[in-house]
Amino acid sequence: MASDIEHIKGRVDEVLHLSDGSLAPLDYKYAEYKEFLYRTHRYQSILYAMLIKEAYEKDVRRGFICYVRSKNKIVEVVYKDSNFSEARRINIEILRIIQTGHFPKRISSRIRCIDCCYRNICV
Ligand code: SF4
Repeated sequence: MASDIEHIKGRVDEVLHLSDGSLAPLDYKYAEYKEFLYRTHRYQSILYAMLIKEAYEKDVRRGFICYVRSKNKIVEVVYKDSNFSEARRINIEILRIIQTGHFPKRISSRIRCIDCCYRNICV
């Protein structure tokens, strides 16, 4: 699925048709659930929801993530309107970085940089 409006493209693992008439993305992660939802996993789910909303023209209010290495534990992600506006803000920021060719500033919490795959090129 792709959206010219949102400037995103992705392959949703499954689209669920819920009994209330809304749709929901189901995403499989070959990972363990760590008792909290990583921001990256949450936003991936939100971006999938935006793609589904536009493609099917139906409401998408929640999604599900299946953590395969935690005995297929299913975690529900409930979306708020603010999640979609924040995702759009991040997308526009990424577009600006791509279009201007500028690296973003380093984050303040250096602990996250330890195992970051962009560490060698990050300014
Ligand atoms: S090294 Fe990675 S985590 Fe650290 S600031 Fe750069 S991109 Fe962000």
